[in-house]
Amino acid sequence: MSLSTRATKVIAMPTKYLKEALPGISVSFEFFPPKTADGATRLDEAATKLAELSPDFMSVTYGAGGTTQDLTRDWVTRLQKSTGVPIAHHLTCVGAARQDVDNLARDLWAEGVRNIVALRGDPPKGSGKYEPHPDGYAFAADLVEGLLKVADFDISVAAYPEVHPQAASAKADLDNLKRKLDAGANRAVTQYFFENDHFYRFRDQAEAAGITQEIVPGIMPVTNLQGLVNFSSACGAHIPQWLVDMFDGLDDDRETQAMIAASVAIEQCRDLYANGVRSFHFYTMNRADLTRAICHALGVRDRAAKHAA
Ligand code: FAD
Repeated sequence: MSLSTRATKVIAMPTKYLKEALPGISVSFEFFPPKTADGATRLDEAATKLAELSPDFMSVTYGAGGTTQDLTRDWVTRLQKSTGVPIAHHLTCVGAARQDVDNLARDLWAEGVRNIVALRGDPPKGSGKYEPHPDGYAFAADLVEGLLKVADFDISVAAYPEVHPQAASAKADLDNLKRKLDAGANRAVTQYFFENDHFYRFRDQAEAAGITQEIVPGIMPVTNLQGLVNFSSACGAHIPQWLVDMFDGLDDDRETQAMIAASVAIEQCRDLYANGVRSFHFYTMNRADLTRAICHALGVRDRAAKHAA
């Protein structure tokens, strides 16, 4: 869909939001491996609640520099068993020889894991610029190719509507995305963004470049604005001033922050839907409440409600 043909904005009254379930939506949810026992309990609870929404898949991230390799694998197999939802294992190229990555992929396949989010990854904080491991996969496109030699995984790759910060140019970054998809990845999931026009422009450019696979927007409900501001410049996502203004004065009021976060994300998803998007990937930050509220407002219902209907 080109910029010129898309609707400019969803102008719908809040009451209409609540009445009207949007048909044809599919969702996926991302978690990170917690480091504490409390965090583990919270993740188990969040995954159980969000699994009720029948996502296409849920995923568990891999720490920068591969620091949480074992934790990621443990959580992927644990949540796949406990929820019955396919769980994608994020996997990066950082600090690992090809053989080690291939062996891990083989083990995952043997354990019933079929979904992988294949990434280059970043070096651990403070360790300077990314250098490929001498015997490793250098970039995500190489990793996709290698993984598909191991087994027929369903693979998601990363995309950057506002351009990856280390890309030589927007064109080079798009060429790289095409390489990853041409290597056999099934879809691209984007870095979060808050101005949908970035996404629409990027999708148009991807289409013009011959990319046919789905580009799934990554939706970040804002749970910690300052943390997000600190993190965003390094990851190719811009925090608009209107968003900063919305959270102004709410530092000590988490409840109101959560309400605003949900309403911002609902409005963003409605606009994306009006412009042809049907799949949404949520960065849950291991919390079910916000993501569940956003999904509910979009008409995504849990299994029990579907069966009762
Ligand atoms: P690539 O696609 O390999 O691209 C990296 C950069 O190199 C780009 O600038 C690209 O244009 C450039 N490039 C690619 N190929 C070449 C080449 N041949 N020559 C020169 N330049 C090239 N990080 C984690 O550590 N763990 C995670 O679990 C994780 N999950 C993520 C999930 C999603 C949905 C997203 C969007 C990001 C995630 N990240 C994660 C962050 C990601 O690892 C970083 O953004 C990383 O810097 C780039 O990874 P990539 O897979 O996009 O890299």
